[in-house]
Amino acid sequence: MMNKYADLTVPGPTITPISKPFWDAIEQGEFILQHCKDCQKWVFYPRSHCPHCWSNQLEWKQASGKAQLKTWSTVHRAGHPAWQAITPYIVGVVELEEGPSMMTHLLVDAPNQLKIGDPLNVHYVQCNDTWLPFFG
Ligand SMILES: [Zn+2]
Repeated sequence: MMNKYADLTVPGPTITPISKPFWDAIEQGEFILQHCKDCQKWVFYPRSHCPHCWSNQLEWKQASGKAQLKTWSTVHRAGHPAWQAITPYIVGVVELEEGPSMMTHLLVDAPNQLKIGDPLNVHYVQCNDTWLPFFG
């Protein structure tokens, strides 16, 4: 599949010391999430404390990269001009197999056939010099 995102110069993620392991893993083609050592729940987005029990004992663990579709929308007018070149595109919220939800681009050819609960897998997509986790 041709990567229509490869030549996009889009604003990348804001990488902080807390989120850097996630983005480094994406660049390596690995999907990791934070996991709480105290309450055993998974956490996304990356943060310093567990949102379930307020523990600071979060560790990075390999995640499945599998998800189910929760909702989606077709974007015709991009929120940032850099994305306008590839409109229309689909963004959605997926529920990761581990529990947390993530907003992401959906790599689909026929958006009119999407259904809530559709199984999806992570794909690592290069947008200029940034690697992003999309689902399809
Ligand atoms: Zn916890």
